[in-house]
Amino acid sequence: MNKQKGETMHHYDPSSEIQDYLVFGEYGDVNPSITDSSTYTFLNPQIMNELFEHEIEGCFLYSRHWNPTNKYLAQALAKLEDSEAAIVTASGMAAISCAILQLCNAGDEIVSGRTIYGGTYAFFKNFLPKYGINVKFVNTQDLKAVKSAITEKTKVIYCEAVSNPLLEVADIPKLSQLANQHNIKLMVDNTFSPIIISPIHLGAHIVVHSLTKFINGTSDCVAGCVCGTHEFISQLTDINSGASMLLGPVLDSYRAASIMKNIHSLHIRMKKHGENAQYLAENFEKLGCKVFYPGLKSHNGHKLLKEIMNDGFGFGGMLAIDAGTTEKANEFMAKMQQEKVGYLAVSLGYFKTLFSSPGHSTSSEIPEEERKAMGLSEGLVRISIGLDNDIRKTFERIKKCLNEVGLCK
Ligand SMILES: *Cc1c(COP(=O)(O)O)cnc(C)c1O
Repeated sequence: MNKQKGETMHHYDPSSEIQDYLVFGEYGDVNPSITDSSTYTFLNPQIMNELFEHEIEGCFLYSRHWNPTNKYLAQALAKLEDSEAAIVTASGMAAISCAILQLCNAGDEIVSGRTIYGGTYAFFKNFLPKYGINVKFVNTQDLKAVKSAITEKTKVIYCEAVSNPLLEVADIPKLSQLANQHNIKLMVDNTFSPIIISPIHLGAHIVVHSLTKFINGTSDCVAGCVCGTHEFISQLTDINSGASMLLGPVLDSYRAASIMKNIHSLHIRMKKHGENAQYLAENFEKLGCKVFYPGLKSHNGHKLLKEIMNDGFGFGGMLAIDAGTTEKANEFMAKMQQEKVGYLAVSLGYFKTLFSSPGHSTSSEIPEEERKAMGLSEGLVRISIGLDNDIRKTFERIKKCLNEVGLCK
């Protein structure tokens, strides 16, 4: 592949990279056989000794380390992100925590965006300090603030490509420049924007995903991945010192196989989620709603996203409406569930529309004051737009709910 790090790549097409990744099963199966083994035989004891001393590429030892099914999925994810390598984990949080613990030692620091997934925030704020790792939360939109937060001890700049829940867009090329100047890593959570943004092309060093969301897309399991260099992925899986090997968040191979099959329709789903979300966002805005969607010119990340995104996959399936107060948000969500718009549930990327109030669920770990500072209203309703065939009908349903609750007038 002929690409330059840090250069915008409008014509990169992750979906065709995945399509071109042909896997032949044992019997030529188009879906390779699922490996159903915790352990693997060695043809002779010598090979086992060698493997414990240093990794032998393509050799399977024990399923917590690697198994063929997880390797197929990891390779597909490396194609998706155009990284040298990847590993899969049993959750998005496992991917994030293992990658961070691999990079940081006691005494090190992380500079992180402040509008991040609540679980990541809690891990950074409450858990890492127990091991002497401290996190500074900054507004990553403000590059000066990021720069001045970096010290000798900083090892990682962490952000979400499109942030949860306000859908702010990270300036990955600029953050990457900063990271390179300080010889530290830029780690990007790309859960909200798979296929749409290719962080590695924009200069990120490590990409993490919660596969639980859009990538799997069927809300039937929890999983994650880390994409990075061969060197980093082998550090993570090192038998003697690797975080994923030693903390052990191994994904079950049956799940890996089912996620792999769902990835093949990811590009079609992302387009449809985006098309539907764009239609709704434009029409909510016309109604006078306070709506956050990066596909709207009024969104503060619109211009930047247009510059860095891969063409042809839309602006994503997530939008947020500010209902003002918790009461209004709750009324609105209850109405939407009643009118069969979708489910009142956390998570995202499902075929049905899902909505929740982040201030009281996924972002509840973030203290009130900080939520205020970042503009996270208590009445914010985060909506993961589904794959509805007739989005006009859905809009009419939601409009009815807005009217009945007295919103957007
Ligand atoms: C859900 C989510 C996570 C955590 O992933 P799990 O699979 O639930 O562990 C991390 N980051 C973002 C942006 C998420 O939406």
